[in-house]
Amino acid sequence: MTTITERLKSAINTIALTQTKFNIDHHTVQLLAVSKTKPIGDIEQAIAQGQRAFGENYVQEGVDKIQFFNNPSLDWHFIGPLQSNKTKLVAENFDWIHTIDRLKIAKRLHDQRPSSMAALNICIQINISGEENKSGITPTQLPLLAKQISQLDHLCLRGIMTIGHKSNDSGLIENEFSQMSQLFENLKQEFATVDTLSMGMSSDLELAIKNGSTMVRIGSAIFGQRAPK
Ligand SMILES: *Cc1c(COP(=O)(O)O)cnc(C)c1O
Repeated sequence: MTTITERLKSAINTIALTQTKFNIDHHTVQLLAVSKTKPIGDIEQAIAQGQRAFGENYVQEGVDKIQFFNNPSLDWHFIGPLQSNKTKLVAENFDWIHTIDRLKIAKRLHDQRPSSMAALNICIQINISGEENKSGITPTQLPLLAKQISQLDHLCLRGIMTIGHKSNDSGLIENEFSQMSQLFENLKQEFATVDTLSMGMSSDLELAIKNGSTMVRIGSAIFGQRAPK
């Protein structure tokens, strides 16, 4: 059986090879290891290999892990849908959230972020494929929401996030990823804090890197398949 250690090395290697292939500087793309539903022991194996950034989708599960490790050198990213009644736990525990698509949630996170902590890093989620069942705002809604978030000082606007189209049509996915890249470049011009394009998962990381991703969110390719929730 392939171990987490081997799969993590292989993911890091794939990222490096893809950057070389598309002539992208090797400091550009960060690996977010998505550890949702996976036990503490799995995360410990990744930490032993030097992995520091972890992604979680479920608030209470993520908070339990953050408090268990209680390690300031780790970065915890919330990447799941967030309801109003759970914002306080995210504000008090996580370093990042990638799924902001409403001002109301952003305002609550701002109000609830303890002043003793660094600003909560924010990516705005874009529904670039326009699929109905998907969260995220449309590209035309981005300038206003970005501006509003940039004015909340317990938050730090870092960039935008998308979930790739579930499709075998790589041309379609690539077209959407390149639209994201354009939105990201425009946003960077406007806000000095913006440096993150969160795009690419186990199945589409190469297309994402080719199209300017700066952070790929990899779960199953590192930790193995997840049991259905
Ligand atoms: C689960 C999840 C991932 C990781 O997906 P894999 O296909 O397992 O790599 C990435 N991003 C989000 C938002 C997720 O929910």
